[in-house]
Amino acid sequence: MDINVSDIRTYLVCPRILYFREDNEWKDNDKFLKHTFLREISLEEALYEREWEDKSILNKLLLRSFSSVEGKIEDIYREEFERIDRSLFSSVKEEVKNELSEISEGIWCAVEKFGGEVRALMEPEEIERKLYSDRLGLFGRVDKIISNDENYIPSIIKTGRRPDFGVWKEDRIQLAAYVMLLEECAGKTINRGVVEYFCSGKPVLVEINRYDRRLVLDVRNKIKKIYRGSLPEREEKVFCKYCEYREECEVKRSLFSKFF
Ligand code: SF4
Repeated sequence: MDINVSDIRTYLVCPRILYFREDNEWKDNDKFLKHTFLREISLEEALYEREWEDKSILNKLLLRSFSSVEGKIEDIYREEFERIDRSLFSSVKEEVKNELSEISEGIWCAVEKFGGEVRALMEPEEIERKLYSDRLGLFGRVDKIISNDENYIPSIIKTGRRPDFGVWKEDRIQLAAYVMLLEECAGKTINRGVVEYFCSGKPVLVEINRYDRRLVLDVRNKIKKIYRGSLPEREEKVFCKYCEYREECEVKRSLFSKFF
């Protein structure tokens, strides 16, 4: 049984979600739709078709990318969009459009601070490359492949809040799994990748170490157990009150607790 890299991230958020979640679940909620829209903007060729010489050029490129994504997103996600309420799509589109100037501000601040490195860590050589390894028992589709120091390295796009320092642990381990997969494909050690916090214009170059690699393999094995039917113990998290599986999770807990 091979494990999807995105499940590794989910496991680190909460292992029980993997137990309750259906296969290939497309979440037709506003948060997920917004993430998809923003991710497409970051992947969009139009964003990189000129140098980011000043803020107004960056603004224009972001607007151009938005329009390009707006015109094709329904064709790219055709099956998924059949299930989406039109009004939800319109409101998400407006929300994304309204946030473009803030995103532009974030990216421009980073460019002023770190120079051309920001764009270099965001511009993809390739997008959505499928990676798999029978030996590692892992597969996934990485958002971007970036050129860095004469190497090709993986990059994942995140559209949520970024931490004050470095990257979130879940993002780091998801990235480590992609690094390991890309190494298999390239036949050499890569040891680094990028977590791109798109909305704050912060692509973070991450060095992957042996602890990250070990955790990837441990989590992979634990996920296999869940898919064989083992229900992980419930740990109350801050996230629980917003979790879409809360009801099922509560029921399972009460049934389970009867036996102890
Ligand atoms: S309610 Fe909490 S413990 Fe249960 S699946 Fe959701 S996040 Fe996990």
